[in-house]
Amino acid sequence: MQGVGFRPFVYGLATRLGLAGLVGNDERGVFIEVEGGSAPVEQFLAALARDPPPLAVIERISTGPAPVTGRTAFVIAPSATGEGRRALVSPDVATCAACLRDLADPACRRHGYAFTNCTDCGPRFTIVRDVPYDRANTTMAGFRMCADCAREYHDPADRRFHAQPVCCPACGPRLRFAGPGDPEGDPLERAVRLLREGGVLAVKGLGGYHLAALAADEAAVAALRSRKHREDKPFAVMAGDLAAARRLCAIDPAEERLLTGPARPVVLLRRLPDAPVAPSVAPGNRWLGVLLPYTPLHHLLLRALGSPIVLTSGNVSDEPIAYRDDDALERLGGIADAFLIHDRPIHIRTDDSVVRVFRGRDLPIRRSRGYVPHPLPLARAAPRPVLACGAELKHTFCLVKGDRAFVSHHIGDLENYETLRSFVEGVGHFRRLFDVVPEVVAHDLHPEYLSTKWALDQDADLVGVQHHHAHIASCLADNGVAGPVVGVAFDGLGYGTDGTLWGGEFLVADLAGFDRAGHLTPVPMPGGATAIRQPWRMAAAYLDLAYDGDVPEDLDVVRRNAGQWGAVVALARRGGNAPLTSSMGRLFDAAAAVAGVRDAITYEGQAAVEFEQLADPEVDDAYSCGLVGTGSGFAVPGVELVRAVADDLRAGVPREVVAARFHNAVAGIVAAGCERVRDGTGLTTVALSGGVFQNLLLLGRAVTLLEGRGFTVLTHHRVPPNDGGVSLGQAAVAAARDAR
Ligand code: ZN
Ligand code: ZN
Ligand code: FE
Repeated sequence: MQGVGFRPFVYGLATRLGLAGLVGNDERGVFIEVEGGSAPVEQFLAALARDPPPLAVIERISTGPAPVTGRTAFVIAPSATGEGRRALVSPDVATCAACLRDLADPACRRHGYAFTNCTDCGPRFTIVRDVPYDRANTTMAGFRMCADCAREYHDPADRRFHAQPVCCPACGPRLRFAGPGDPEGDPLERAVRLLREGGVLAVKGLGGYHLAALAADEAAVAALRSRKHREDKPFAVMAGDLAAARRLCAIDPAEERLLTGPARPVVLLRRLPDAPVAPSVAPGNRWLGVLLPYTPLHHLLLRALGSPIVLTSGNVSDEPIAYRDDDALERLGGIADAFLIHDRPIHIRTDDSVVRVFRGRDLPIRRSRGYVPHPLPLARAAPRPVLACGAELKHTFCLVKGDRAFVSHHIGDLENYETLRSFVEGVGHFRRLFDVVPEVVAHDLHPEYLSTKWALDQDADLVGVQHHHAHIASCLADNGVAGPVVGVAFDGLGYGTDGTLWGGEFLVADLAGFDRAGHLTPVPMPGGATAIRQPWRMAAAYLDLAYDGDVPEDLDVVRRNAGQWGAVVALARRGGNAPLTSSMGRLFDAAAAVAGVRDAITYEGQAAVEFEQLADPEVDDAYSCGLVGTGSGFAVPGVELVRAVADDLRAGVPREVVAARFHNAVAGIVAAGCERVRDGTGLTTVALSGGVFQNLLLLGRAVTLLEGRGFTVLTHHRVPPNDGGVSLGQAAVAAARDAR
């Protein structure tokens, strides 16, 4: 189990039942010895399994007899340094109900105190410098507990018994406000005034700095957008409580559970038509990312303010989020009008997690704060410790020890020195925390990824894992399944075993290996990476093939890009800087551009995101697209879909209908491809992975079709289908190969 208030719980339970003995931690987890009458011992065992503390995750309980010692008291054994290292680091936990009551109670010495926490809540992963998890090894080391806090800390009957970050206004961190107004004024009141007046506030959070503005104030949100150089990508909104969130979005029970749960991710919710948020918060988006307060500071701020705020990561465009005070003041100085800060250092930068709900279950988009470093169980233990270095975008890494996989926090896009450094430092930190010395290092096959280059320098046994195999293995590990399965990996781009760029793949895969059973017919990407930023280039390449070089000039996408159209088509035909790709993401780009969604993007996947929003969910018919080739190795001619999109638009079919027919057609391709593989192999389980399956319309239609045809379908629930989940897949592959 993960140690969160577990030893105090055991102490309380044993003491209530009049049992003697001890509880402690060791390398394997928590150990307990109890002695007393058989009835109370039975009651003890039953209660242990039935009512553990809310945050405890019990993997299993094993029991056996022990010699009678004649003890008369129950004690908590001190944790031995060097042992039990791994069991003790928990994710950060949202403020609990009891601490919220303290916060609101004028008679409590923590009334209004922004750093209130207890055994059941508060900072953990973000403040841990080293193991064992004791105060001296956290960023709270510099704060000396006052007598009152020390008494609570040492009292086994107290809610704050052994709560490492315990503190109060007399001894703990303090808020500070840097900005306009009376320097003697209350920091929180000054921050509230600034926000009310339309200012942009930088707030130091749990895992980094955020930038905040009143969500209903268009001028404030637009200012934040332009200063941050974030043109279109939606902002998340923090609402004060569930009732306030319900004024913004429709919330079903599964979404409510996520929103109010201890991890407090950003949950993508269906926005209400009259939601009181400024247009610039999430331009043209039917979905809104909403989160509830997860620190006392958030609660105090939102309560005083009385209205929702935009809360976005404290950075400029795609840089990593700022978390060190001096760095934040420097980098965010040009964006924020003021700073609300404090003196508890953040040890490790951890972004907010983002989750969607699919059919009542979590579909993670980004797994970070609140989830990391909780280990994911592997179906089979790895013979030797593994480090998986991940991919490039939405980067994470993963360490495996035995049957546990520790997937890292979100590192960011591994495209520059700063993110590379935070990857390397993160690896060092995880190695210490979990006492792992990797003997096997897994990496992507892409020779240009910084993660690959770093991996190749390591002194360990190297295992190269094909990108889409890693996606499918990630989905298998996510579901505790070993395969073989039919794997459908649809994403932006990944390096193939033939040196071309893949991304619309049907694999027959288990954890150790795969065969490429089918794929999207490769199409040139005119201009290489430029074609990713300018989806109209993919439209040009696809249309040129779809109409055999004779593209109708009355198509809007041709008119809009007339100036460069000829040159780009020539580039596509000539090759050179037009690498071939079987990417489904690029097919979405092409169709979206033809349908007039957009010609250029400002964030990854934007055209596909907006195409999903455009689609009319009431439309059930689809374009047809046959599979080409027989036996092993079929191809899916995506050009047929682009041709159908263009023909429909020329015939005056509404864009909403066109977008829906396209989505339905891709779902149909998934089902047809899987049936083809089933015919040849007899496999009846399908794993869906890759960033394209963040698209809920597509995912829903594909799963419905597959289940209707008798398939068992695996989707992601614990790690993202996008490249944030690739490191887990690489680790699972490396472990499986090492076990052979
Ligand atoms: Zn608490
Ligand atoms: Zn104190
Ligand atoms: Fe990918």
